[in-house]
Amino acid sequence: MTRQVGPPLAERLATVRSGVAEAAREAGRSPQELTTIVVTKFHPASLVRELHALGVQDVGESRHQEARQKSAELAPLRLTWHFVGQLQGKKARQVAAYADVIHSVDRESLVTALRSDDSVTDCFLQLNLTDDPERGGVDLAGLPTLAELVLATPGLRLLGVMAIAPLDEEPRRAFARVRTASEALRTVAPDATAISAGMSGDYREAILEGATHLRIGTAITGNRPIAG
Ligand SMILES: *Cc1c(COP(=O)(O)O)cnc(C)c1O
Repeated sequence: MTRQVGPPLAERLATVRSGVAEAAREAGRSPQELTTIVVTKFHPASLVRELHALGVQDVGESRHQEARQKSAELAPLRLTWHFVGQLQGKKARQVAAYADVIHSVDRESLVTALRSDDSVTDCFLQLNLTDDPERGGVDLAGLPTLAELVLATPGLRLLGVMAIAPLDEEPRRAFARVRTASEALRTVAPDATAISAGMSGDYREAILEGATHLRIGTAITGNRPIAG
């Protein structure tokens, strides 16, 4: 059996960059308002180095041990590390030690765990767009209360909302709900204007609905290695 190799990293990155720019134009927005985070989970630090050499500044990880190791090894590159995975309360402080931005703050106990008088971590409130509480994320009704708690907690700066489009919903519709949630959030936190939404398969729809931070993995990195 021959394994399909596909185009090299630089080519996939260029393809996504032009796809992002095109969607921004279509939305009447400037590509400069958009941050593309390359999600590098399961990939070795060497791939992150290659991405850095290609001009990537923002990288995303979803597993604590792996993220901690890679960010330590690559500290001299001065990348911006985004933690996008589900977060355990007891690991929260450890993640905040290396992550510049945490996208998955979704409950009071996590906010309390992230409280700090020494440093400030940027964060997003993750919204659950499904009916399944296991998916992680706060529901729309719980968003304002959680936002108020973050605003009152030293050590956290609230950037906005984060969401993952459900598999069984048209992405544009799901992201329209995220836009509505973002508007609701801004009534209690006017500065929290950012929207972290859009992955390899749906970043265009996310951009059309106002996403500011795209979390793109496989479209840039190629398929993830099988977890060992
Ligand atoms: C893995 C992951 C991504 C990237 O997914 P792709 O489909 O590979 O682009 C984005 N967001 C989160 C939360 C992830 O875990």
